[in-house]
Amino acid sequence: IAQGFGISNAVLIKKLMQYGMMASVNQTLDRETIELLALDFNVKVEDEVITDATRYDEIEIVDDPKDLVKRPPIITIMGHVDHGKTTLLDAIRKARVVEGEAGGITQHIGAYQVNWNGDKITFIDTPGHAAFTEMRARGAKVTDICILVVAADDGVMPQTVEALEHAKAAKVPIIVAVNKVDKPTANPENVMNELSNYDLLPEAWGGKTPYVMVSALKRQGLDELLDVILLLSEIEEYKANPNRLAKGTIIEASLDKSRGPVATFIVETGTLKVGDIVVAGNTYGKVRTMTDDLKRRYEEAGPASPVEVTGLNTVPQAGDIFMAFSDEKTARQIAATREARDRENERKFTKAKSLDSMFSNLEDTEKVLNIVLKGDVQGSIEALKGMLAKIDIDGFHANLVRAGVGAISESDVTLAKASDAILIGFNVRPNAAVRSLAENEGVELRLYNVVYRIIEDIEKALKGMLEPTF
Ligand code: GDP
Repeated sequence: IAQGFGISNAVLIKKLMQYGMMASVNQTLDRETIELLALDFNVKVEDEVITDATRYDEIEIVDDPKDLVKRPPIITIMGHVDHGKTTLLDAIRKARVVEGEAGGITQHIGAYQVNWNGDKITFIDTPGHAAFTEMRARGAKVTDICILVVAADDGVMPQTVEALEHAKAAKVPIIVAVNKVDKPTANPENVMNELSNYDLLPEAWGGKTPYVMVSALKRQGLDELLDVILLLSEIEEYKANPNRLAKGTIIEASLDKSRGPVATFIVETGTLKVGDIVVAGNTYGKVRTMTDDLKRRYEEAGPASPVEVTGLNTVPQAGDIFMAFSDEKTARQIAATREARDRENERKFTKAKSLDSMFSNLEDTEKVLNIVLKGDVQGSIEALKGMLAKIDIDGFHANLVRAGVGAISESDVTLAKASDAILIGFNVRPNAAVRSLAENEGVELRLYNVVYRIIEDIEKALKGMLEPTF
């Protein structure tokens, strides 16, 4: 950005400090900050028009309105721990299975679809907002509506607030499911009252937010919940063009011993077909099979369909965007270019980093503990940033190389390795692949769910007293 603006890094960083941001040279800035900087430095910024197919994931597809048809809504369930998210997801799924649609044996693929009164509804089957945030942090927008589950006997809790903040930030409409109304201690009015303070005034009280009283355990109120979802979908008019090459998001991916790479795709636009050539993140392949959570096979999957896909050459990452291409050569080239570009970026980054450390060495030799920090929500990241900035032990201090929201990824490990940093996860965990990468690269990985423990350990580390743990 400094280059683009024609100013020095130092001037830019000083300006960011005035905004209250302690930014490092390699930090990524969000759009709002960049726009603010542009105003301050009197620079005009414009959105880049992307035509390069290797950046297919950034290209916005614009369809002719006459090609658009109604598609099912995609729902994410969020809420505080133990308020009944998993039970609700299971109850909705089972309600369908009881209807006798299939053998009743389900497998977790990360999403499922139900039929309700002739319409379909897609549910993302990963309760909680960690996945939602991670997807969003990577630019994926896979949720149309958020169901905020609040236990009627417990009321609004910290993660309830976080969840609703995430949904609002993503501009996703919220339906409140007041759960556990079967309990004698249930107090739905209280939930409605509390949530009214968060701009979620119930429709019944003249507001705009639909509330549904449910008991996930006793399977009460589920029909109404599904009705409300469809009602809201009617209003929001979710549409897509089924007659184009498919594009969508990967919500889960793993390596299966017998089937090879498997990934759950949510088709957002177009129709995915068996035999289609797809690029997914930095990998590609030919769609061999598509199955749903009931192990039913599909030849085609249209907009909002969740399907588990086999046939990719390697395992993509959750949050990667996939797109079908008309021929294999193009797909292969795109995947190869993307992979090479990622590696090049990493290399540049490592180089930049070592330059950077040269500068810091000039000032105070090795008095810095570099940290790559990942957390589940922006709020806790900001809090940690503030606390870390204050640490000073005999002139030793902590330096955040990266602080971001989302699961710990391979790129975090690479960055930690490159910058000689320790990698900290707050309320987020790495998957097995990332964990083993950290081990192989000799990157110290620490997971926490209490803020002050992080501070405590970093202080210990700065005193040179920290025992390594993995
Ligand atoms: P999650 O952490 O939000 O996914 O919550 P769970 O679905 O695991 O539910 C937490 C606990 O609440 C479990 O013991 C459930 O059986 C219980 N629970 C969930 N829904 C209800 C309900 O509607 N009524 C009652 N009484 N208990 C419920």
